[in-house]
Amino acid sequence: MKIREFQAREIFARHGIPVPKSTLARTITEAVAAAKGIDGPTIIKAQVLAGGRGKAGGVKLATSPAEVQSFAESILNLRIGSESVSSVLVGPAVDIVRELYLSIVIDRTTQQLLLMASADGGIDVEETALSKPSAIHKISITLLHEIPEWQLRQLAFDLHLEGPQIMQFITVANGLLAAFLDVDASLAEINPLVVDSEGNLQAIDAKLTVDDNALYRQPSITQLREAYDESPAERRARESGLSYIKLDGSIGCMVNGAGLAMATMDVIQHHGGEPANFLDVGGGAGVDRITTAFEIILEDPNVRAVLINIFGGITRADDVATGVIAAQNRLPREAPIVVRVAGTREAEALQLLEAAGIRAQASMDTAAARVVEATR
Ligand code: GDP
Ligand code: MN
Repeated sequence: MKIREFQAREIFARHGIPVPKSTLARTITEAVAAAKGIDGPTIIKAQVLAGGRGKAGGVKLATSPAEVQSFAESILNLRIGSESVSSVLVGPAVDIVRELYLSIVIDRTTQQLLLMASADGGIDVEETALSKPSAIHKISITLLHEIPEWQLRQLAFDLHLEGPQIMQFITVANGLLAAFLDVDASLAEINPLVVDSEGNLQAIDAKLTVDDNALYRQPSITQLREAYDESPAERRARESGLSYIKLDGSIGCMVNGAGLAMATMDVIQHHGGEPANFLDVGGGAGVDRITTAFEIILEDPNVRAVLINIFGGITRADDVATGVIAAQNRLPREAPIVVRVAGTREAEALQLLEAAGIRAQASMDTAAARVVEATR
Protein backbone atom coordinates (compact mmCIF):
# COMPACT_ATOMS: atom_id res chain seq x y z
CA MET A 1 0.00 0.00 0.00
CA LYS A 2 1.28 3.42 -0.97
CA ILE A 3 0.92 6.42 1.29
CA ARG A 4 1.04 10.07 0.30
CA GLU A 5 4.11 12.27 0.42
CA PHE A 6 3.00 14.37 3.40
CA GLN A 7 2.45 11.20 5.42
CA ALA A 8 5.76 9.65 4.36
CA ARG A 9 7.51 12.92 5.23
CA GLU A 10 6.21 12.68 8.79
CA ILE A 11 7.51 9.14 9.13
CA PHE A 12 10.88 10.14 7.65
CA ALA A 13 11.12 13.13 9.99
CA ARG A 14 10.40 10.86 12.95
CA HIS A 15 13.50 8.90 11.99
CA GLY A 16 15.78 11.89 11.87
CA ILE A 17 15.66 12.68 8.15
CA PRO A 18 15.68 16.47 7.54
CA VAL A 19 12.45 17.38 5.77
CA PRO A 20 11.32 20.94 4.93
CA LYS A 21 8.34 22.40 6.78
CA SER A 22 5.00 22.12 4.98
CA THR A 23 1.25 22.29 5.46
CA LEU A 24 -1.47 20.17 3.86
CA ALA A 25 -4.23 22.18 2.17
CA ARG A 26 -7.46 20.82 0.72
CA THR A 27 -8.78 24.03 -0.81
CA ILE A 28 -7.36 27.08 -2.59
CA THR A 29 -8.17 29.19 0.48
CA GLU A 30 -6.29 26.76 2.74
CA ALA A 31 -3.33 26.81 0.36
CA VAL A 32 -3.21 30.62 0.34
CA ALA A 33 -3.44 30.67 4.14
CA ALA A 34 -0.66 28.07 4.41
CA ALA A 35 1.60 30.20 2.20
CA LYS A 36 0.96 33.37 4.18
CA GLY A 37 3.89 33.17 6.61
CA ILE A 38 6.38 32.02 3.95
CA ASP A 39 8.95 34.55 3.01
CA GLY A 40 10.37 33.73 -0.43
CA PRO A 41 9.27 31.22 -3.08
CA THR A 42 6.58 28.67 -2.17
CA ILE A 43 6.44 25.11 -3.43
CA ILE A 44 2.99 23.59 -4.06
CA LYS A 45 2.75 19.83 -4.57
CA ALA A 46 -0.15 17.57 -5.46
CA GLN A 47 -0.70 14.85 -2.85
CA VAL A 48 -1.53 11.81 -4.91
CA LEU A 49 -0.39 8.21 -4.66
CA ALA A 50 1.17 8.16 -8.14
CA GLY A 51 4.73 9.29 -8.82
CA GLY A 52 5.82 11.57 -11.65
CA ARG A 53 3.84 14.50 -10.30
CA GLY A 54 6.42 17.01 -11.48
CA LYS A 55 6.05 15.91 -15.10
CA ALA A 56 2.25 15.91 -14.78
CA GLY A 57 2.19 19.55 -13.66
CA GLY A 58 1.55 18.64 -10.03
CA VAL A 59 4.61 20.41 -8.55
CA LYS A 60 4.87 24.19 -8.96
CA LEU A 61 7.03 26.93 -7.56
CA ALA A 62 5.15 30.15 -6.80
CA THR A 63 6.91 33.47 -6.37
CA SER A 64 3.93 35.64 -5.41
CA PRO A 65 0.63 35.27 -3.51
CA ALA A 66 -1.21 35.53 -6.83
CA GLU A 67 0.81 32.58 -8.16
CA VAL A 68 0.13 30.57 -5.01
CA GLN A 69 -3.58 31.07 -5.65
CA SER A 70 -3.50 30.24 -9.36
CA PHE A 71 -1.09 27.27 -9.02
CA ALA A 72 -3.09 25.81 -6.12
CA GLU A 73 -6.20 26.13 -8.25
CA SER A 74 -4.69 24.48 -11.30
CA ILE A 75 -3.14 21.64 -9.28
CA LEU A 76 -6.33 20.99 -7.32
CA ASN A 77 -8.12 20.62 -10.67
CA LEU A 78 -5.64 18.07 -12.02
CA ARG A 79 -6.06 14.36 -12.43
CA ILE A 80 -2.77 12.48 -12.03
CA GLY A 81 -2.88 8.84 -13.01
CA SER A 82 -6.27 7.60 -11.87
CA GLU A 83 -6.60 10.06 -9.01
CA SER A 84 -8.12 13.54 -8.84
CA VAL A 85 -5.94 15.80 -6.76
CA SER A 86 -7.80 16.59 -3.54
CA SER A 87 -5.01 18.19 -1.55
CA VAL A 88 -1.70 19.99 -1.96
CA LEU A 89 1.33 20.33 0.26
CA VAL A 90 2.45 23.93 0.67
CA GLY A 91 5.81 24.99 2.05
CA PRO A 92 8.85 27.18 1.59
CA ALA A 93 10.71 26.15 -1.57
CA VAL A 94 14.16 24.76 -0.93
CA ASP A 95 16.97 26.49 -2.82
CA ILE A 96 18.44 23.45 -4.59
CA VAL A 97 22.10 23.11 -5.58
CA ARG A 98 22.18 19.38 -6.37
CA GLU A 99 19.62 16.57 -6.61
CA LEU A 100 20.64 13.09 -5.44
CA TYR A 101 18.71 9.83 -5.35
CA LEU A 102 18.44 7.47 -2.40
CA SER A 103 16.21 4.45 -1.88
CA ILE A 104 15.85 1.11 -0.15
CA VAL A 105 14.09 -1.77 -1.87
CA ILE A 106 13.80 -5.49 -1.34
CA ASP A 107 16.19 -7.35 -3.63
CA ARG A 108 14.32 -10.57 -4.32
CA THR A 109 17.27 -12.37 -5.91
CA THR A 110 19.56 -11.96 -2.87
CA GLN A 111 16.62 -11.87 -0.44
CA GLN A 112 18.15 -8.85 1.21
CA LEU A 113 17.45 -5.16 1.41
CA LEU A 114 19.27 -3.05 -1.10
CA LEU A 115 20.25 0.58 -0.65
CA MET A 116 20.56 2.45 -3.94
CA ALA A 117 21.96 5.91 -4.46
CA SER A 118 22.90 8.16 -7.31
CA ALA A 119 24.52 11.54 -7.71
CA ASP A 120 22.02 12.24 -10.53
CA GLY A 121 18.67 12.31 -8.78
CA GLY A 122 15.49 14.10 -9.80
CA ILE A 123 12.67 13.44 -12.15
CA ASP A 124 14.81 11.67 -14.78
CA VAL A 125 16.45 9.10 -12.52
CA GLU A 126 14.68 6.20 -14.25
CA GLU A 127 16.39 7.17 -17.50
CA THR A 128 19.77 7.38 -15.77
CA ALA A 129 19.21 3.89 -14.36
CA LEU A 130 18.68 2.59 -17.91
CA SER A 131 21.23 4.59 -19.87
CA LYS A 132 24.00 4.72 -17.27
CA PRO A 133 23.50 1.88 -14.76
CA SER A 134 26.99 2.44 -13.35
CA ALA A 135 25.76 5.78 -11.97
CA ILE A 136 23.57 3.88 -9.51
CA HIS A 137 25.54 2.79 -6.44
CA LYS A 138 24.28 -0.19 -4.45
CA ILE A 139 24.84 -1.54 -0.96
CA SER A 140 23.36 -4.89 0.05
CA ILE A 141 22.04 -4.74 3.60
CA THR A 142 22.62 -7.93 5.52
CA LEU A 143 19.96 -9.55 7.63
CA LEU A 144 21.44 -7.80 10.66
CA HIS A 145 19.74 -4.74 9.16
CA GLU A 146 22.63 -2.46 9.80
CA ILE A 147 24.83 -0.73 7.29
CA PRO A 148 28.48 -0.52 8.38
CA GLU A 149 29.45 3.12 8.64
CA TRP A 150 32.48 2.74 6.39
CA GLN A 151 30.23 1.65 3.55
CA LEU A 152 28.01 4.73 3.93
CA ARG A 153 31.07 6.94 4.20
CA GLN A 154 32.43 5.43 0.97
CA LEU A 155 29.06 5.93 -0.69
CA ALA A 156 28.95 9.57 0.43
CA PHE A 157 32.33 10.10 -1.27
CA ASP A 158 31.05 8.38 -4.42
CA LEU A 159 28.15 10.85 -4.42
CA HIS A 160 30.69 13.71 -4.21
CA LEU A 161 29.46 14.82 -0.81
CA GLU A 162 31.92 16.63 1.41
CA GLY A 163 32.50 18.03 4.90
CA PRO A 164 29.47 17.93 7.20
CA GLN A 165 27.40 16.45 4.36
CA ILE A 166 29.09 13.08 4.95
CA MET A 167 27.69 12.72 8.47
CA GLN A 168 24.34 14.14 7.32
CA PHE A 169 24.19 11.51 4.59
CA ILE A 170 24.93 8.73 7.09
CA THR A 171 22.08 10.02 9.29
CA VAL A 172 19.70 10.15 6.32
CA ALA A 173 20.60 6.65 5.10
CA ASN A 174 20.26 5.14 8.58
CA GLY A 175 17.01 7.07 9.07
CA LEU A 176 15.65 5.73 5.79
CA LEU A 177 16.51 2.17 6.85
CA ALA A 178 14.89 2.70 10.26
CA ALA A 179 11.74 4.11 8.61
CA PHE A 180 11.69 1.20 6.14
CA LEU A 181 11.88 -1.37 8.95
CA ASP A 182 9.46 0.57 11.19
CA VAL A 183 6.56 0.45 8.73
CA ASP A 184 7.39 -2.89 7.06
CA ALA A 185 8.02 -1.11 3.79
CA SER A 186 8.72 -2.69 0.44
CA LEU A 187 10.08 0.62 -0.88
CA ALA A 188 11.42 3.77 0.77
CA GLU A 189 12.66 6.47 -1.57
CA ILE A 190 13.96 10.01 -1.41
CA ASN A 191 14.09 11.50 -4.90
CA PRO A 192 15.48 14.03 -4.83
CA LEU A 193 17.63 14.18 -1.74
CA VAL A 194 19.02 17.66 -2.24
CA VAL A 195 22.01 19.71 -1.24
CA ASP A 196 20.59 23.15 -0.46
CA SER A 197 22.31 26.50 -0.92
CA GLU A 198 23.63 26.32 2.64
CA GLY A 199 25.28 23.00 1.85
CA ASN A 200 22.85 20.90 3.91
CA LEU A 201 21.02 17.74 2.86
CA GLN A 202 17.22 17.76 2.79
CA ALA A 203 14.65 15.24 1.61
CA ILE A 204 12.26 17.17 -0.61
CA ASP A 205 10.26 14.18 -1.78
CA ALA A 206 9.23 11.15 0.25
CA LYS A 207 7.91 7.86 -1.00
CA LEU A 208 6.96 4.88 1.14
CA THR A 209 5.19 1.71 0.06
CA VAL A 210 4.10 -0.58 2.86
CA ASP A 211 4.05 -4.32 2.28
CA ASP A 212 0.36 -5.31 2.10
CA ASN A 213 1.14 -8.57 3.86
CA ALA A 214 2.27 -6.58 6.90
CA LEU A 215 -0.76 -4.30 7.14
CA TYR A 216 -2.28 -6.49 9.85
CA ARG A 217 0.47 -5.31 12.16
CA GLN A 218 0.64 -1.74 10.84
CA PRO A 219 -2.74 -0.35 11.95
CA SER A 220 -1.40 3.20 12.01
CA ILE A 221 -0.66 3.02 8.27
CA THR A 222 -4.15 1.78 7.45
CA GLN A 223 -5.50 4.64 9.60
CA LEU A 224 -3.51 7.18 7.59
CA ARG A 225 -5.36 6.14 4.48
CA GLU A 226 -8.73 6.12 6.21
CA ALA A 227 -8.16 9.54 7.78
CA TYR A 228 -7.32 10.98 4.35
CA ASP A 229 -10.33 9.44 2.64
CA GLU A 230 -12.92 10.43 5.27
CA SER A 231 -15.90 12.62 4.30
CA PRO A 232 -16.10 16.32 5.30
CA ALA A 233 -18.69 15.43 7.98
CA GLU A 234 -16.49 12.66 9.38
CA ARG A 235 -13.53 15.01 9.36
CA ARG A 236 -15.43 17.76 11.14
CA ALA A 237 -16.64 15.24 13.71
CA ARG A 238 -13.12 13.99 14.38
CA GLU A 239 -11.82 17.54 14.76
CA SER A 240 -14.57 18.26 17.29
CA GLY A 241 -13.70 15.16 19.33
CA LEU A 242 -16.70 13.14 18.13
CA SER A 243 -16.56 9.60 16.78
CA TYR A 244 -18.90 9.62 13.81
CA ILE A 245 -19.55 7.14 11.06
CA LYS A 246 -22.27 7.81 8.52
CA LEU A 247 -24.68 4.99 7.72
CA ASP A 248 -27.65 4.72 5.34
CA GLY A 249 -30.68 4.74 7.68
CA SER A 250 -33.09 7.50 8.71
CA ILE A 251 -32.62 7.68 12.49
CA GLY A 252 -29.87 9.97 13.72
CA CYS A 253 -28.21 8.78 16.93
CA MET A 254 -26.45 10.89 19.53
CA VAL A 255 -24.98 8.83 22.32
CA ASN A 256 -22.28 9.19 24.95
CA GLY A 257 -20.06 6.11 24.98
CA ALA A 258 -19.04 3.86 22.08
CA GLY A 259 -20.52 0.70 23.62
CA LEU A 260 -23.82 2.43 24.30
CA ALA A 261 -23.81 3.84 20.77
CA MET A 262 -23.55 0.34 19.34
CA ALA A 263 -26.24 -0.97 21.70
CA THR A 264 -28.49 1.94 20.65
CA MET A 265 -28.08 1.03 16.98
CA ASP A 266 -28.98 -2.59 17.80
CA VAL A 267 -32.13 -1.60 19.67
CA ILE A 268 -33.23 0.71 16.83
CA GLN A 269 -32.85 -2.17 14.38
CA HIS A 270 -34.67 -4.48 16.77
CA HIS A 271 -37.66 -2.14 16.50
CA GLY A 272 -37.51 -2.15 12.71
CA GLY A 273 -35.63 1.14 12.22
CA GLU A 274 -32.33 1.87 10.52
CA PRO A 275 -29.68 4.06 12.19
CA ALA A 276 -28.35 6.94 10.06
CA ASN A 277 -25.04 7.00 11.87
CA PHE A 278 -22.86 5.87 14.70
CA LEU A 279 -22.06 8.84 16.90
CA ASP A 280 -20.26 8.93 20.21
CA VAL A 281 -20.14 12.43 21.67
CA GLY A 282 -17.65 11.17 24.24
CA GLY A 283 -17.28 11.93 27.92
CA GLY A 284 -17.75 15.47 29.20
CA ALA A 285 -19.62 16.61 26.10
CA GLY A 286 -20.54 20.27 26.48
CA VAL A 287 -22.89 22.53 24.51
CA ASP A 288 -20.47 23.10 21.65
CA ARG A 289 -19.75 19.46 21.00
CA ILE A 290 -23.43 18.52 21.26
CA THR A 291 -24.36 21.37 18.90
CA THR A 292 -21.79 20.16 16.37
CA ALA A 293 -23.15 16.63 16.73
CA PHE A 294 -26.69 17.88 16.05
CA GLU A 295 -25.49 19.80 13.00
CA ILE A 296 -23.62 16.83 11.59
CA ILE A 297 -26.59 14.51 12.14
CA LEU A 298 -29.15 16.92 10.64
CA GLU A 299 -26.95 17.77 7.66
CA ASP A 300 -27.68 14.25 6.45
CA PRO A 301 -30.90 14.64 4.40
CA ASN A 302 -31.91 11.03 5.12
CA VAL A 303 -32.35 11.75 8.82
CA ARG A 304 -36.06 11.93 9.77
CA ALA A 305 -35.79 11.66 13.58
CA VAL A 306 -33.07 11.75 16.23
CA LEU A 307 -32.58 9.52 19.24
CA ILE A 308 -30.46 10.96 22.02
CA ASN A 309 -29.30 8.34 24.47
CA ILE A 310 -27.54 9.75 27.51
CA PHE A 311 -25.95 7.63 30.15
CA GLY A 312 -24.63 9.45 33.19
CA GLY A 313 -21.44 7.81 34.35
CA ILE A 314 -18.46 9.91 35.30
CA THR A 315 -20.05 12.55 33.08
CA ARG A 316 -23.25 13.58 34.84
CA ALA A 317 -26.50 13.09 32.94
CA ASP A 318 -27.73 16.55 33.99
CA ASP A 319 -24.65 18.18 32.42
CA VAL A 320 -25.32 16.42 29.12
CA ALA A 321 -29.00 17.35 29.39
CA THR A 322 -28.04 21.01 29.83
CA GLY A 323 -25.95 20.73 26.67
CA VAL A 324 -28.80 19.14 24.74
CA ILE A 325 -31.24 21.88 25.85
CA ALA A 326 -28.89 24.68 24.85
CA ALA A 327 -28.00 23.04 21.54
CA GLN A 328 -31.66 22.41 20.74
CA ASN A 329 -32.23 26.14 20.25
CA ARG A 330 -29.62 26.26 17.53
CA LEU A 331 -30.75 23.37 15.35
CA PRO A 332 -30.24 23.83 11.60
CA ARG A 333 -33.61 22.19 10.83
CA GLU A 334 -36.63 20.60 12.50
CA ALA A 335 -36.84 16.90 13.27
CA PRO A 336 -38.59 14.86 15.97
CA ILE A 337 -36.25 14.20 18.89
CA VAL A 338 -36.57 11.41 21.41
CA VAL A 339 -34.43 11.45 24.54
CA ARG A 340 -33.49 8.68 26.91
CA VAL A 341 -31.64 9.44 30.14
CA ALA A 342 -30.21 7.07 32.74
CA GLY A 343 -27.46 6.90 35.35
CA THR A 344 -25.77 9.51 37.51
CA ARG A 345 -28.13 12.47 38.20
CA GLU A 346 -30.85 10.89 36.10
CA ALA A 347 -33.70 12.53 38.06
CA GLU A 348 -32.14 16.00 37.75
CA ALA A 349 -31.58 15.47 34.03
CA LEU A 350 -35.20 14.38 33.46
CA GLN A 351 -36.44 17.42 35.38
CA LEU A 352 -34.29 19.82 33.34
CA LEU A 353 -35.44 18.32 30.06
CA GLU A 354 -39.08 18.32 31.14
CA ALA A 355 -38.83 22.00 32.12
CA ALA A 356 -37.41 22.74 28.67
CA GLY A 357 -40.33 20.95 27.06
CA ILE A 358 -38.36 17.90 25.94
CA ARG A 359 -39.95 14.60 26.85
CA ALA A 360 -37.45 12.02 28.04
CA GLN A 361 -37.66 8.51 29.41
CA ALA A 362 -35.46 6.15 31.32
CA SER A 363 -36.11 3.11 29.14
CA MET A 364 -33.90 2.62 26.14
CA ASP A 365 -36.32 0.14 24.65
CA THR A 366 -39.28 2.55 24.82
CA ALA A 367 -37.17 5.39 23.43
CA ALA A 368 -36.08 3.30 20.46
CA ALA A 369 -39.66 2.23 19.76
CA ARG A 370 -40.80 5.89 19.89
CA VAL A 371 -38.13 7.15 17.53
CA VAL A 372 -38.85 4.40 15.00
CA GLU A 373 -42.55 5.36 15.22
CA ALA A 374 -41.64 9.00 14.61
CA THR A 375 -40.08 8.14 11.25
CA ARG A 376 -43.20 6.35 9.99
P1 GDP B 1 7.72 13.91 -8.31
O1 GDP B 1 7.76 14.49 -9.67
O2 GDP B 1 6.39 13.27 -8.02
O3 GDP B 1 8.84 12.97 -8.04
O4 GDP B 1 7.82 15.16 -7.29
P2 GDP B 1 9.09 15.79 -6.53
O5 GDP B 1 8.67 16.15 -5.17
O6 GDP B 1 10.27 14.91 -6.62
O7 GDP B 1 9.34 17.13 -7.32
C1 GDP B 1 9.74 17.13 -8.68
C2 GDP B 1 10.80 18.15 -8.93
O8 GDP B 1 10.33 19.43 -8.54
C3 GDP B 1 12.06 17.94 -8.10
O9 GDP B 1 12.96 17.05 -8.72
C4 GDP B 1 12.62 19.34 -8.04
O10 GDP B 1 13.39 19.63 -9.17
C5 GDP B 1 11.39 20.22 -8.06
N1 GDP B 1 11.10 20.64 -6.67
C6 GDP B 1 10.41 19.98 -5.74
N2 GDP B 1 10.45 20.62 -4.55
C7 GDP B 1 11.21 21.73 -4.74
C8 GDP B 1 11.66 22.81 -3.89
O11 GDP B 1 11.36 22.90 -2.68
N3 GDP B 1 12.43 23.77 -4.47
C9 GDP B 1 12.79 23.72 -5.80
N4 GDP B 1 13.57 24.68 -6.26
N5 GDP B 1 12.40 22.71 -6.61
C10 GDP B 1 11.62 21.73 -6.11
MN1 MN C 1 10.27 12.78 -6.67
